[in-house]
Amino acid sequence: MKKIAALFLTITMMASLCLSAVAKTGGEKTYGAYKHVYIIGIDGAGTFFEKDYMENFHRIFADGAVKYGVRTETKTDSGPNWTSILTGVSYFRHGAENGVVSGEQKRFFKRYPSIFKTVHDAIPNAELASINNWGAVNIGIVEDGIGVTKIDAGPDDATVEEITDYFNSGHAPTLFFTQLDEVDAAGHAHGSASEEYESAMKQADERIGRIYDCLEENGLLEDGLFIVTADHGHRETGGHGRFSKIESYSTLAVKGKTVIPGGSMDSDVKLRDTAAVALYALGVEPSEHGFSARVPGNLFSDVKGQARPYHRDIIDLLCGSFMWIYTCLGAPFDRYF
Ligand SMILES: [Zn+2]
Repeated sequence: MKKIAALFLTITMMASLCLSAVAKTGGEKTYGAYKHVYIIGIDGAGTFFEKDYMENFHRIFADGAVKYGVRTETKTDSGPNWTSILTGVSYFRHGAENGVVSGEQKRFFKRYPSIFKTVHDAIPNAELASINNWGAVNIGIVEDGIGVTKIDAGPDDATVEEITDYFNSGHAPTLFFTQLDEVDAAGHAHGSASEEYESAMKQADERIGRIYDCLEENGLLEDGLFIVTADHGHRETGGHGRFSKIESYSTLAVKGKTVIPGGSMDSDVKLRDTAAVALYALGVEPSEHGFSARVPGNLFSDVKGQARPYHRDIIDLLCGSFMWIYTCLGAPFDRYF
């Protein structure tokens, strides 16, 4: 067992060393180059952004950096992944299941500072907003008492309406997050191979376009970093939470003035790296407590891929690597549970 652990450790360490892809140098500095970071989360969308029908997505990120093989947390549910995206901490550490995030379950759960809290501590007058369909985000992930404008607007259209009203009324948040939920709902009801899922993706695409265009009209993109991501994918027959690739592969798309147009990022990208990217762009140092996110290579023009701070999370290194091998083998036992 010790030998196996040592082998994983060696393989993963070597892999992370090789991954520091050489990025182009020169141009504007990225660290702290942005006044605003906007994170748009499409629940359950996985890598389906890749589809040709995602016209707004492809329009927006034509000169952005996009990665379609981004790894979710080992448990492919919303609670674990939105928590990791907004904290930079692994699921093995925070243990935030859906029911824990929504406040319905009291189980093992260690609260780590969200990037809202970290930004608030570093920039006390920062404007912060979290406007979502899934109300749990504002219960179990984004802290109270740090001045975040929290709105749970319900259906995706109503949520986008709240968002555009918010930007149109003169708000210019330092950090903004939204979670839209209806792609996930279509996935649960009909599966990701269905027409209903495709039509939900098209609607999500239209909503991404609406938010982006609203930011542009209000002059909020010049110093803004625009990010689109998803917490997990969906099985063809519907559902997620297990380890198959269609559940465990997601997307990270980033656009901004220091982003390499057409950048494809390096190979060790996890969803939780969104937290590192956001903080880096705002010039804010992450809380070191459990933080195991990194800024990927081939994303920003002046940043080589950072080394992942594995030393802060040995359990994720070992268990996460083991489970990733299982995923890559085709998750052979998934159908039994
Ligand atoms: Zn779901």
